[in-house]
Amino acid sequence: MTPISESEATVNVADLAVTRGDGIFESIGVIDGRFIELPRHLRRLAHSAELLELPEPDLEAFEAAARLALDAHAPAAELLVKLFHSRGVERSTGGVAGPTGWVQVLTGADHAEARATGIRVVTLDRGYRHDIAQTAPWLLQGAKTLSYALNKAALREAARRDADDVIFVSTDDVVLEGPTANVLVRHGDLFRTPRTDLGILAGTTQAAAFEALESFGFDTAEAVLTPADLVSADAIWLCSSGRLLAPVRELDGRSVPVDAELTMRLLATAFGLHPGGPDA
Ligand code: PLP
Repeated sequence: MTPISESEATVNVADLAVTRGDGIFESIGVIDGRFIELPRHLRRLAHSAELLELPEPDLEAFEAAARLALDAHAPAAELLVKLFHSRGVERSTGGVAGPTGWVQVLTGADHAEARATGIRVVTLDRGYRHDIAQTAPWLLQGAKTLSYALNKAALREAARRDADDVIFVSTDDVVLEGPTANVLVRHGDLFRTPRTDLGILAGTTQAAAFEALESFGFDTAEAVLTPADLVSADAIWLCSSGRLLAPVRELDGRSVPVDAELTMRLLATAFGLHPGGPDA
């Protein structure tokens, strides 16, 4: 494996990732050269592959490629490493030659302000019931597929509504997840996140945040939450690999309290990120 630059890298035009979005991916945060939650990301890649009935990804090869690509990239305080696993190339003569896999290193956006002061979020209808994963598993909810056009469309809708991000709600009023993030909700000393059997992605960032919260002595739980739980929350965060933890400062136009101190403590404990320090 030899790392190559973006301008040299190519994917076959007949690859099913390109023509059908028929593949999966992972985005892994890297802080000061350290992968964040790499084993959880690799496990989730394998789980997504199972849900899509893709050939099993070679996790050792992915990890080796990720490390090689990272070493070849100019160092930065924060980077994102993406792993792609596609069903492969559709042959004109029939059948598929595959799977195809590749790794990409990106300089992440600057999330310092979102982490420190918070983001504005709108709730949007996801158009599904909360039990979609059980009633229609072929919709692949809970897999991190390459079909992210809907997720991107939701983020554009948020921008139209003068917001930064989205929390999806099911048609039967259950809080789900964001287009690229999990939801973390605080009531007193209890921190809850929507259950992963609600057709949402099992978040690596949320899992690491729960471990840190438990080490601080707080209670954590996976739960069925409603929009009323968001309205009554003492604090809400969106958790995702690039931005890590973004406190929600406004939900559907209403102010939500932001606990900047706890956010910084969590970022330091769960991810070794010290905003305001040399990484800021
Ligand atoms: N939910 C969805 C739909 C996502 O795409 C993502 C990440 O991109 C997440 C949740 C958060 O997962 P993680 O914290 O592992 O990045």
